[in-house]
Amino acid sequence: MDTRTLSTLLENYCHITNIHYYDETDSTNLRAKQYVQENDGTSACSPCLFVSEVQTAGRGRLGRSWESPPNEGIWMSFLCKPNLPPNQISGVTILAGLAVAKTINSFALKQSIHNLYAEIKWPNDIVINKKKVCGILTELIGNTSYVVCGIGVNVNSLSFPENLFQKATSLLKESGVVWNREKLIAVIIKNLSDYINSYEKSGDLDFILYDYNKLLVSMDKEVVLIGGTNINEKNSDENIYISKGIDKTGALIIEDSKGNRQTVSTGEVSVRGINGYV
Ligand code: ADP
Repeated sequence: MDTRTLSTLLENYCHITNIHYYDETDSTNLRAKQYVQENDGTSACSPCLFVSEVQTAGRGRLGRSWESPPNEGIWMSFLCKPNLPPNQISGVTILAGLAVAKTINSFALKQSIHNLYAEIKWPNDIVINKKKVCGILTELIGNTSYVVCGIGVNVNSLSFPENLFQKATSLLKESGVVWNREKLIAVIIKNLSDYINSYEKSGDLDFILYDYNKLLVSMDKEVVLIGGTNINEKNSDENIYISKGIDKTGALIIEDSKGNRQTVSTGEVSVRGINGYV
């Protein structure tokens, strides 16, 4: 990673000058949390960005691990202090997903890559051709109002461990070309911080609904919900719904076979396609 170029881009695109680079760290979300503990109350804290060439203990939701091999991905955490109540923080994941998917698609268009289209797998993954290219983990830090949004993107990876081979992909694998990680980071963070500003002003996600639902991989398709108190674990008929997109709180609207609608919140359940991950 060319850290000087990235610093210049971040300053020019989003006026962020507080950037922490690591050749290796356990998890950039953990670095952001530690930074808040050490600097809370000072103006130094946000917004800032933590970027590592490799993570030795990258995490997904529910303590799952996130593979972050050296020099071929974007492993970063954006730290901010949005003026939002705690129950609206999950909206940051929604915004980060849209920021990543839109950035990838705009870069593909600029590079005349026509066979690549990133879609959102609600709530926190980005997929290309049904395989995961990005994962997002947003966390509220302790008793503070700081939020850390961890974003992992498989950029120039050519291979994956056996357990991820069927499920994961990278921008290089899908396009056949090497992608510029510095520019991708700068545009993702610019889009995300613009979205967060708008979210703070509007208090809901109405302003991105159309764009988001257009990129939602499950839109108007059958989905199965896994987990959640009222959800059947079996892939039975009662457990199959049609996804109707998100509402302005970021919850997913699902419709059962009788046409009854309900919403499910991020964190409550996992969504799968009827034949697998998407
Ligand atoms: P999900 O959204 O699929 O329920 P998480 O968001 O918690 O899961 O992400 C963690 C999961 O993602 C891991 O259990 C693993 O299956 C998968 N995974 C881990 N590292 C990567 C990676 N670099 N690329 C794609 N998928 C990954």
